Amino acid sequence: MEKQVTLFWFRRDLRLEDNTGLYYALQEKSPVLPLFIFDTRILNDLEDCDDARVTFIHQTITHLHEQLAELGSSLWVAHTEPQLAFKNLFEQYDVQAVFTNRDYEPYAKERDAAIEQLCQDHGVMFLDFKDQVIFEHKEITTDADDSYYKVYTPYKRKWLAKAQQTQIAPLDLTPYIKKNLLRIDPLPMPSLEELGFRPTERELPPRSVPKDIIRAYADERNFPAKRGTTRLGIHLRFGTLSIRRAVQIGYELDEVWLSELIWREFYMMILANEPRVVNEAFKKEYDAIPWRDAPEDFERWCAGETGYPIVDAGMRELKKTGFMHNRVRMIVASFLTKHLLIDWRLGEAWFARHLLDYELASNNGGWQWAAGTGTDAQPYFRIFNPYSQTDKFDPDKRYIRKWVPEFEEQRYPEPMVDHKFARQRALDTYKEALGKK
Ligand code: FAD
Repeated sequence: MEKQVTLFWFRRDLRLEDNTGLYYALQEKSPVLPLFIFDTRILNDLEDCDDARVTFIHQTITHLHEQLAELGSSLWVAHTEPQLAFKNLFEQYDVQAVFTNRDYEPYAKERDAAIEQLCQDHGVMFLDFKDQVIFEHKEITTDADDSYYKVYTPYKRKWLAKAQQTQIAPLDLTPYIKKNLLRIDPLPMPSLEELGFRPTERELPPRSVPKDIIRAYADERNFPAKRGTTRLGIHLRFGTLSIRRAVQIGYELDEVWLSELIWREFYMMILANEPRVVNEAFKKEYDAIPWRDAPEDFERWCAGETGYPIVDAGMRELKKTGFMHNRVRMIVASFLTKHLLIDWRLGEAWFARHLLDYELASNNGGWQWAAGTGTDAQPYFRIFNPYSQTDKFDPDKRYIRKWVPEFEEQRYPEPMVDHKFARQRALDTYKEALGKK
């Protein structure tokens, strides 16, 4: 057996800089061997073999592999189930400890509990760290009864107050990374094709932080025709950008942008405290809503053929690029759940399949907000009017023209449902299901 090692397991923290678990692993006596597992339990469930997220992860892992080779070390990469990967590692190396960063999604928690048990069975320490958030789900609680917040604004207030008393500076790994990595020749790295995927044709957003956009964010962020938001979602999702660095930039450049990072953390806190929201309405009584079983209507929504130009523009942008502007996400989600009365879970799954920045907590939070079923949600009686949303946020129809160039021509379909009728139907259905007068 080889000499003693400390393992560091990368998951949604794919960077060498400011990485909490890696920082602490590098303080150990035995040298660090970093690893990444292309988890077949996740990859086998993906529907598209050119899934852009897999290309993104593969490119990022290849880059990490190269960076570590330059440092005289390597990344140990597997394509299997985590349990099998660790059994294999325990046979190859004299493992002293496994370090990693915490992940709060239900599957990840179950996976980590199993690996922690496996470590225990092998007499190996398992240590996990907070890295993907500034404050975890039990760190921001109400003064009244120490429970978690169900409403964003007071949560944000408390978050900001606590942040003032907390060191949020990024960690500097440079002094340790040169000395404390395992010296080893580069290990093999599977190609994307060997993982069963092919490269995406989608453009992947660069990792650099667009500071000008953040400076102008408060004024520009609501207009989908403009490039007014950062497109950093995918980097925050996979940790190619650390949240501490992002928050620092928010403090320096724009408070409104910082508030969005706090929304991200709010939804992560809700998911960690209430994992049932993955399948259920946060407000339980909303599960009584009799959603329409209307597969053809759902398909028209997916295809961007509803006859509502702003909705169709968003859905086509998503399908083509993997991105949709936040304002338009709210409009299309409201349209599906209220105008068409189709279950938010179907829309959520469509977004999960196509969004480059797909993130379970924020996607679930965004959908439940739009459907009125979630924490701090849009009340059921507030129903977005797609036409007035267009007048406000795409007044010269630049965004619509880009994605639905035929919207003024005869071949463009009539609205699939009349706005006034749909609004009334939604109000009546919600009211009855919720027992409101
Ligand atoms: P910016 O506007 O530049 O914001 C910076 C970062 O802050 C984002 O990358 C994201 O990490 C975070 N953020 C911004 N707005 C929100 C928000 N409302 N809620 C939570 N975090 C936010 N966001 C996701 O990251 N993944 C999702 O799967 C997702 N699904 C959504 C589904 C619906 C129905 C709705 C209404 C919103 C959803 N959002 C989701 C939130 C938001 O739309 C995106 O974060 C944002 O559009 C991403 O663009 P950007 O990277 O340019 O963000």
